[in-house]
Amino acid sequence: MSTLLEVSGVSVSFDGFKAINNLSFQIADAELRAVIGPNGAGKTTFMDIVTGKTRPDEGRVIWGEKSVSLLRMSEAQIAREGIGRKFQKPTVFEGQTVRENFLMALKKDRGVLSVLLFRPSKADHEQVDALAEEVGLLAELDRLAGELSHGQKQWLEIGMLLAQEPRLLLVDEPAAGMTPEEREHTSKLLVQAAKTRAVVVVEHDMEFVRRLNCKVTVLHEGGVLAEGSLDHVTSNSAVIDVYLGR
Ligand code: ADP
Repeated sequence: MSTLLEVSGVSVSFDGFKAINNLSFQIADAELRAVIGPNGAGKTTFMDIVTGKTRPDEGRVIWGEKSVSLLRMSEAQIAREGIGRKFQKPTVFEGQTVRENFLMALKKDRGVLSVLLFRPSKADHEQVDALAEEVGLLAELDRLAGELSHGQKQWLEIGMLLAQEPRLLLVDEPAAGMTPEEREHTSKLLVQAAKTRAVVVVEHDMEFVRRLNCKVTVLHEGGVLAEGSLDHVTSNSAVIDVYLGR
């Protein structure tokens, strides 16, 4: 599988403190990856760098077959390149139906006016049905998004991001606040989503990470401490020390 994103030798400091320290990270096309690490390890800053929100002081961030640098692009350009980000809290349009939320997501790149003037075609509705099916919301299409459970809102937002056809989706703590059933559904959804695009999941919940059954990257003090299967990294003595605070 070819490399989709290559971060190499990236460092970033805030007021002299190195939040990211010579970080290198690669992800392949259609790969699922979990990123774990204690609070302050640099997980959020890593996602901020990939999405262009934070500019590194050093290093390279290379994207796609053409090996373009993301460092020269604005956040909007990076999003158009196909990098989507799901923040921890769901942000859906609560006063709109699930279907309307999906339709807006389909047209988002065409600007506010085109969303207002938008008359969805049969093909648009079919695309919405397919997205709703993919995230498990087919039975909820006519409900107001505000009436959905926390888990369903998260799935809706993931579906809305998938509507933008990302090649890489960054997902921040998807399992937080979910019931065990919702967590199970979410893990299956992400495994499925990663069959056709790369998905990076930042997560604290180790049971959830286990369900993803994918390569795990452990961040610590802004760098990669260990990488491999969950069993491999959790048997690493440096990782155990970090988690036990030694
Ligand atoms: P994580 O997401 O793994 O908890 P973060 O990426 O949020 O870690 O933070 C890494 C380190 O960088 C932390 O010590 C945090 O306090 C620091 N940090 C992050 N953003 C800023 C900022 N804007 N200004 C100052 N320090 C920051």
